[in-house]
Amino acid sequence: MSDAAVTSTDILIELLPQKAKPKAGKLFINGEFVDSLSGKTFATHNPATGDLLANIAEAGAADVDLAVRAARTAFEDGSPWRKMSPRDRARILWKLGELIRTNLEEIAELETLDTGKPIFESAKFDIPQAADCFEYYAGWPTKITGDTIPTTQGGDALVYTLREPIGVCGQIIPWNFPLQMLAWKVAPALACGNTIVLKPAEQTPLTALRFAELTVEAGLPPGVFNVVTGFGPTTGAAMVEHPGIDKIAFTGSVEVGKEIMRVASKTLKRVSLELGGKSPNIVLADADLETAAKYALGGIFFNQGEMCTAGSRIFIEERGYDEFMSVLRGRAAKMVAGDPLHPKTRLGALISEEHLNRVLSYVSIGKQEGATVATGGERIGTKGYFMKPAVLEGVTNSMRVAQEEIFGPVASVIKFADVEEAVREANNSQFGLAAAIWTRDIKKAHQIAKRVKAGTVWINTISTTDNGVPFGGYKSSGFGRELGKAAIDLYTETKTVWVDLNG
Ligand code: ADP
Ligand code: MG
Repeated sequence: MSDAAVTSTDILIELLPQKAKPKAGKLFINGEFVDSLSGKTFATHNPATGDLLANIAEAGAADVDLAVRAARTAFEDGSPWRKMSPRDRARILWKLGELIRTNLEEIAELETLDTGKPIFESAKFDIPQAADCFEYYAGWPTKITGDTIPTTQGGDALVYTLREPIGVCGQIIPWNFPLQMLAWKVAPALACGNTIVLKPAEQTPLTALRFAELTVEAGLPPGVFNVVTGFGPTTGAAMVEHPGIDKIAFTGSVEVGKEIMRVASKTLKRVSLELGGKSPNIVLADADLETAAKYALGGIFFNQGEMCTAGSRIFIEERGYDEFMSVLRGRAAKMVAGDPLHPKTRLGALISEEHLNRVLSYVSIGKQEGATVATGGERIGTKGYFMKPAVLEGVTNSMRVAQEEIFGPVASVIKFADVEEAVREANNSQFGLAAAIWTRDIKKAHQIAKRVKAGTVWINTISTTDNGVPFGGYKSSGFGRELGKAAIDLYTETKTVWVDLNG
């Protein structure tokens, strides 16, 4: 494929040969790769070609039960994991980060094959960030401490708290950043001494299975980390119902998040949810409009827009509209979807044909609602699930394209007259995951940051995350904060110990 292909939308997508060889998938239970009890399998495909990548074992309730039992045994008193010192736990976490880096090229290619995302993103962002997450949490086991607390009740007493692992954690993750989402959940859970049953998304199981091999190499005791591959309503639901799982950590859709909460209430599992978003990207006329427009493109089109934090509602102040939009339109029109394995590609394939059609249907919905398509919005070719990134103008915040999460490369541009209107409309959403604000007026920026209901607010930047920085949602975007110190709270229970010192 020539370099020209990445600068022109007219050239059809040719595909490079892949180097990574995905293996047939088995379940990973108690430190071993095993077939599912039923022998059932399902296929995972390459979204850039539609080709079969591998057949993957489908876990039923009985397989989930085996995985939960392995995780339970690995968690209980006297197990090697429970006896392991925090320093040794830290060493294993560090080793996992190191092993991800050692195998980075291969893992990045697997991720790109399974998701359709550009290799540039897998190799420079997803996989190194996942390694960094293990390295970051390698610092934590030796620093998880309780408190001593002065009391007035009961006379003289010593009261202290212990931070203990919760137990068996069920972790259910989506397909948009497979290994990174695994790292966000697995690294802090291990740092706190929990054991894990993880279910990757059915569309993207390959890197979780490769990671399972690395846990053996890193010396993680059998049963501490288990992978059950399969579908949501079967494998995932069996996890949420299982009384042997103490906590469910979920990232995915609002609809499934609600269902998980409802089912988890039967066994009173701890639940943390990271759900969707419709993040406002608020650009004031006094901002550096060219920079704001360039970043706005990354904010919505990175990872084909398949991001829960996507800055999908671009609010632009009327006075800056023409200048901002000329940059945004021009650059969006030049963006090309290409072979995800080509190092120059910056826009890959969407995850599936079904998802592509859903995203395209939102472009039609926008038009019916009165928006205009400034650029893009059509499928490219018939092989693979590629589309031209779309910019919708003339959107108002009450339209479906401004209220519903599209999870694809569709930007909705909304004009506003003043800051009051921008803040009101930005908050007029069921979601509250993230927001961005662009202005040269630093006071105004902080004032707006306080008023926007979102778990993360970016000022003069967008979409950055760091493994040390808490991340999570307000409102329907979920609850609980992942990453940083916040995830230590998410994966520990606090135990209070009273010691009578009277007499
Ligand atoms: P998306 O629509 O983006 O695929 P989902 O919320 O459907 O997002 O899926 C996210 C993860 O949740 C996937 O691993 C999926 O298999 C799982 N899942 C889907 N439905 C359920 C369910 N009812 N119970 C548990 N997990 C589920
Ligand atoms: Mg796939």
